[in-house]
Amino acid sequence: MFKRLSTKLIVTLFGLLLLMSASFIAFALWMAPMFLEELNQKLNLDLAQNIVKEKHLMLDTQVNHDAMQTVFMGLMLVNPAIEVYLTDPQGNLLAYSAPKGVVKRQRIDLEPIRCFLEKKEHFPVLGNDPRDLTRDKVFSAAPIYEKQKLQGYLYIVLGGQAYDSVVALLQSSYILRLWTAAVVVSLLVALIAGFLVLRHISRRVQLLAGSMERFKQSDFQQSIEHLDRFDGRRGDEIDQLGSTFREMSERIIHQVKLLQHNDASRREMVANVSHDLRTPLASLQGYLETLMLKAEQLSDEQRHEYIDIAYKHSERLRKLVSELFELSTLENQDARLHFEPFSMSELVQDVCQKFRLEAEKKGLQLSTAITTQPTFVSADIGLIQRVLENLIENAIKYTPDGGQVAVSLIIASKTITTQITDTGQGIAAEDIPHIFERFYRVEKHRNLDGTGLGLAIAKRIMQLHNSSIDVQSRLNLGTTFSFPLPCGHI
Ligand code: ADP
Repeated sequence: MFKRLSTKLIVTLFGLLLLMSASFIAFALWMAPMFLEELNQKLNLDLAQNIVKEKHLMLDTQVNHDAMQTVFMGLMLVNPAIEVYLTDPQGNLLAYSAPKGVVKRQRIDLEPIRCFLEKKEHFPVLGNDPRDLTRDKVFSAAPIYEKQKLQGYLYIVLGGQAYDSVVALLQSSYILRLWTAAVVVSLLVALIAGFLVLRHISRRVQLLAGSMERFKQSDFQQSIEHLDRFDGRRGDEIDQLGSTFREMSERIIHQVKLLQHNDASRREMVANVSHDLRTPLASLQGYLETLMLKAEQLSDEQRHEYIDIAYKHSERLRKLVSELFELSTLENQDARLHFEPFSMSELVQDVCQKFRLEAEKKGLQLSTAITTQPTFVSADIGLIQRVLENLIENAIKYTPDGGQVAVSLIIASKTITTQITDTGQGIAAEDIPHIFERFYRVEKHRNLDGTGLGLAIAKRIMQLHNSSIDVQSRLNLGTTFSFPLPCGHI
């Protein structure tokens, strides 16, 4: 029934306020008569004493009835609720103002009178009411001395009303009614204010809970509207919760997309790998089978040719498998690099030396613009050599005979950038964004010997060095690949 947070909070607030106001009113109503009695007694504290001083109520140990009568009359006029009693030193009634027959006690307890006279107790001090055996009342009292001897007490019951019910009490006092109304109005105001505040708070919680539910229903894939309201600017807990949830949901959506993308590219890669492996494998198998079945019919020349082709296919297979393995090792999260300072110009010289023969065979000019300045960089020398090899190999492969390939170093204050420029066929603008993807090969180069993995490996190596590879290319004019590395010191 009270499942919603707002209902729970409002019911609790209402209950608490009601309990508080009820106890407040009950306490006040319980206190009111006592307060009135205290006031009454304090106002009339010296009443009995003053009368005793003024009137000789006892004459030679006898009651002075005339004086008593005047006192009765006088007080009756002032306040008809007041009753006057004269007692002997033991508390036995000697004379009183009340009509005969209504007095039910002939003796009153002296202990409250002593307390009153000595002011030992807190006011109101209640004493016996001779007209009522069950009820005690506030009073004023004074001892009467005649010839230095205690002759008795003047005992004035101050009367005042006894209330049978709260309603009777409230009906009798305008102030009490006003006060009760004030408490009820404050209760209502507090309730309305509390209701509005709680509704405001619970609305935000509801909004958040609703957003979470919708996010769950969208299978954690759709970003949720309205969540930008929780921008953490208000700084309260709901705001913090909202902004954390917003960030969390964005992160989850991003991760889910990444997972889906990774899954798709993994599937694509498996398809590519199997396709790229199947083709050379099938050719290899075909040539070997021909060699096995028709060995006798083939001439020596044909046999050599077939073996040569089979070898080339097996070589291609080996290259593909080893590059795949290399890439997957580099893509491993814990790929470890061995950083060390080394001379980039020396490495460039060494790698170019390796390719010089191949370039010459194609009639290409492979040049290195090497400087005398120190060119130390801090990197993994084995991996940087791999990048250089891939880029120079590509430059040679994709530059027609008679072209030029140049490797140069650009030295800046903190970096050394290696540039490999060729005068080859260039790469079309639409292909440039894809050439670093695994297995991507420009259409017209598919018949050439290549795996489509070289640039993916080079890019990953540069990523591991917190660097990147840049490519500038113009069709039929040439291409420049470049990568920067931080300067290193020995
Ligand atoms: P591949 O083994 O096919 O060379 P890479 O990943 O090294 O694979 O290169 C991807 C594609 O980028 C190549 O197939 C080629 O089309 C293009 N490419 C790379 N380098 C050059 C270059 N220097 N000039 C022209 N095209 C290039």
